[in-house]
Amino acid sequence: MGRRVLEPAARDARGARRHRGEPGAVSLSIASRAGRQGRGAGQPGHECLPTEAWERAFEVAQEAQRRAEDEQLEQVITVAHKGGAAALGLADTLAALQQGRAYQLLVAPEFHTPGRQCANCGAFVLDDLTSCPYCNGKLVVSTDVVNLAVHRAIDAGLKVSALDRSPRLGEVGGIAAVLRY
Ligand SMILES: [Zn+2]
Repeated sequence: MGRRVLEPAARDARGARRHRGEPGAVSLSIASRAGRQGRGAGQPGHECLPTEAWERAFEVAQEAQRRAEDEQLEQVITVAHKGGAAALGLADTLAALQQGRAYQLLVAPEFHTPGRQCANCGAFVLDDLTSCPYCNGKLVVSTDVVNLAVHRAIDAGLKVSALDRSPRLGEVGGIAAVLRY
């Protein structure tokens, strides 16, 4: 199917756009690409984007998203250091979640840690306590409170951003939150 595109210029967004209009590679691989093409690339009546250019455009979009997330993380860190509406690290983030103050989570997908969850109110606790600090309920050991917290956040309709391989997020504890107040 698609040819190899070797010229370096094709690595950037401009290159991806330039290849969009080229025939040739298109007609050969339409059928095999139909499943993965999605709706994003094609406008009715236009030729489909060649696979490699599509993937490159996707990489460019991912890179832009990653930059935006990195910038947001820097803002969150700055706000947290000024004592504003942001939480850094698991303990503060879990507390904010429990208090209903979290608006968005920024989390490293590779970050997992054991803890405890209250069987009564569902609070997540990192400390080695026997009863819930919020309601005195029974605490159940969990192998991964990060995963539980992320699922709770998603269920609550919070935005959750997974920051893949972000050394900066690792520095502040693998998880952070934008707070409502
Ligand atoms: Zn509780």
